[in-house]
Parts: sequence; structure tokens; C-alpha cells
Amino acid sequence: MAEAKKEKILGVKGMNDVLPDDAPLWELFENTVQSVLRSYGYLQIRTPIVEPTALFARGLGTVTDIVEKEMYSFTDSMNGDQLTLRPESTAGVVRAVLEHNLTYEGPKRLWYSGPMFRHERPQRGRYRQFHQIGAEAIGFSGPDIDAELIMMCQRLWDDLGLSDIRLEINSIGDAEERNRHRADLITYFEKHSDVLDAEAKRRLHTNPLRILDTKNPAMQELVNDAPKLLDYLGDESRAHFDGVQRLLNANNIRFTINPRLVRGMDYYNRTVFEWITDHLGSQGTVCGGGRYDPLVEIFGGKPTPAVGFAMGVERLLELMRANTPSTSAGQCDVYLVHQGDAAQLQAFILGERLRDAGLDVVLHCAALGGAGSFKSQMKRADSSGAAYALILGDDEMAKGEATIKHLREADMTNNQRHIGFDQVVDYLIDQIVGDAEHEHGHLHAGQIPTHH
Ligand code: ATP
Ligand code: MG
Repeated sequence: MAEAKKEKILGVKGMNDVLPDDAPLWELFENTVQSVLRSYGYLQIRTPIVEPTALFARGLGTVTDIVEKEMYSFTDSMNGDQLTLRPESTAGVVRAVLEHNLTYEGPKRLWYSGPMFRHERPQRGRYRQFHQIGAEAIGFSGPDIDAELIMMCQRLWDDLGLSDIRLEINSIGDAEERNRHRADLITYFEKHSDVLDAEAKRRLHTNPLRILDTKNPAMQELVNDAPKLLDYLGDESRAHFDGVQRLLNANNIRFTINPRLVRGMDYYNRTVFEWITDHLGSQGTVCGGGRYDPLVEIFGGKPTPAVGFAMGVERLLELMRANTPSTSAGQCDVYLVHQGDAAQLQAFILGERLRDAGLDVVLHCAALGGAGSFKSQMKRADSSGAAYALILGDDEMAKGEATIKHLREADMTNNQRHIGFDQVVDYLIDQIVGDAEHEHGHLHAGQIPTHH
């Protein structure tokens, strides 16, 4: 009697697999971002995915969406420590910078990439494990670095072929300016408390600035007419904001000022910005950032100005999918087909020699039902995406020659050669280099290049 079939265990809701078909797009995206970041002198930093819960509670502020309801926190059962899967990376990067005294010799331009975790309701563009790539410029005080970060994003959209992303900027001033605005804002909202929804009422005395961020249509008119933080800026904040705008204008970066733009975290001050597209429904913000001068001190460091951004990788990839024609990226150069023990050994030897020469080689291996006939092996070779099949059977072993079949040659009468084992590497390298040169003229901009 067969055992009862076991139930499958599925992945966690809101946490996605990136399957091999999709992986080349991720790779193209990540490589493009890295090369843009490097071209501005940003250095990579990698911090742990798990941090002490206190880091986020203190850094992000306890009345933020993230800390209030989105964090995956747990107790380390070994020692009772309170830990959290990082919901964002700025806090961890700043912690690491302080812990290792990275700004000792001066300001630092840093970038990071990796998964973030937020317990949100999964929907299009909103997941529980998602990915961000971000930059943090730590120790820089002027509007110049704010503009540089924004220009870096613009260059990235250009390089990725994404044209429908618009920039909104705002200044949320400094703490004292925000306090004066906050008092007036509370008075204003109290006067109109009949229009406030439950969430806004809850926020009224903890984080009224966030009410401006509401997506509730019934409150739009109210927040539109609310006192504007921009009107409360002092001379220094105003000069900083003017400086950012001057540099953006001089570099032909188009933007709109959105006086209602505030960011989710408490640590922001002065410049804030978001890149938004209309092509992703309500999850249209693909990148957000701003200045966070107070954060280093909040973490116990010396006063150190800083500014950064984080982009949502899944949202940008969804935009790219609409633009990038999917090409079947070649999986390998050569597929090794073999039959018999001696041929198998020779296939292993030739496979290693081809890899030594830099080629990508897939060796046919047995599956359920055994190694398979020549015919079924050739089917695998065809579907592998390989350019060439290298075939070894009794005849080939007897003659000391491999049969090499060009799998992408339309002319079926002229696609096969017999090559002595010692010449196989040179022959295949010549062919593949020749093919690449031939194909090169036909590559279109924006097309995902195969690895040749
Ligand atoms: P939203 O208002 O959409 O919740 P946010 O203000 O929480 O965004 P940030 O903390 O600024 O987002 O994160 C920067 C970027 O990371 C966002 O602009 C977005 O592109 C992406 N992002 C944030 N949360 C998620 C998520 N749950 N799933 C996928 N991407 C996300
Ligand atoms: Mg959010």
C-alpha cells in the first residue's frame, strides 16, 4: 500500500520567490543600480537582517506605522533578547557607522541592498518581504549632496529606460519649525474634528503631520487647506531648500514641490523627496528619501548630518517588465550529451576543460528513469538554451572525436562537425566568439543581454 501523500508546505504569505525566469531581470536591475552608485563614489555596506528591536523603536519613532504595527519582532529563545527583522536599513546603517566609527576621517557615501520585512496587508506592490536598494550620505550638511542623491536616481531611471517617474520634493524644516507648525496644525484639525477619521483622531496629538499624508478621500479638502509647513521655515531651512532647487534646476531635473509631502519616519528634517509613477496603481511611490540630521545623535553619536533614499525594487521591476521585451537569455554555451561509461568520463573531462576556458557548460546527468536515450538527451540540450551540443557515444569514443552540433543553426545539413578531443576547446571558443560578434550588431538598447 502506498503511503498517504504528504501535504505541501507553502511559502509565507506576502513573501515571494524569484524564479529563474525572472532572475535575469533582477540581475540586470541590480547591476545597473550598482554601476550608477559606483559612478558617484558610493561604497557598499552590508548589515545584518536582524537588529535589536530598540534600534527601530528609538530610531524610527514609536508612533510611526512601521513601529506601531508592521515589525516582525521576536524574543531570541536562547537569551531573551528582543530582536526585529529589519523593516528598513537606515537605522542599521547608521548603527554600523557609529559602531565602527566610519566617519572618523570624514563623511561617507554608502549604499546597501537587500530584503526588508514589514507585516502589511499583501497586495500589488506591497509585500511582507520586499527589497530595497538605498544610499546614505553620512556627514554631509549642504544642499549639494541632497541634489546629488536625487540626480543619481534620475540617472538610474534613464539607464533603466524608465521615463514616467516624477519627482516631488518638500522641506519639512527643523524641529523647532515643525513644533510651531504642529501647534497650529492641531488647532486647525481640532476646529474641524468632525471631518477627521478615526486614525487621524488617534494621530492628532501624537503625530499630526502624518494626517497630511492621509489617503482618505473625505479628508483631502481638509488637508489641502491645512497650515503649510513650508510657511514656517526659518532662514536657514529656506536657504537649504532654495539651494537644492537651484542645483536641480541647473541640472535639468524636473520636480514639483508638494507641500503635503511628509515622510513616515520621525528622523527626517529639511529636504524630503519621493519618486512616483502613475503606472502602478495606488502603490506608485518607487523611491523615497530625505535628510535625517538628528538620527546620529538619537543613536548616541556626535551631531552628524545625513541624507539618503531607499527604492522599492519590486515596484521598479514591475515598471521595467512593461518596458523590457523579455528575451530568452541563454542558459549555457554547451550541453554535454553522452552514452556509456567511457563517454561519461570523457564528458566530465571535456566539461572541466571547457569551463577552464571560461565557457558555461551543462553536463547531462541521470534523472528518474536513468540517463536517457540520445534522443531524450538531445531534447534536454535543445531546451537548455545551449548554443552547442557536444555528443559522445561509442562511435565518438572509438574515433577520439566529439560530435559538435550547432543548435541554433537553421541549416540542418550543415550544423554538425566531428572534432578531435584535443581540438574541442579551441574549436568551441572560436565558434562562440564568432557567434557573439555576429549577434552583437543586432542587440537593441534596453534588451536584456545574454551573458556574451
Ligand atoms: P508606502 O507609503 O507605500 O507604505 P513607505 O513610506 O512605507 O511607503 P518607505 O519606508 O519610504 O515606504 O520605503 C521606501 C520604498 O520602499 C517605498 O517607496 C516603496 O517603493 C518600497 N516599499 C515600502 N514598503 C513596501 C512593501 N511593503 N512592499 C514593497 N515595497 C515597499
Ligand atoms: Mg508603508
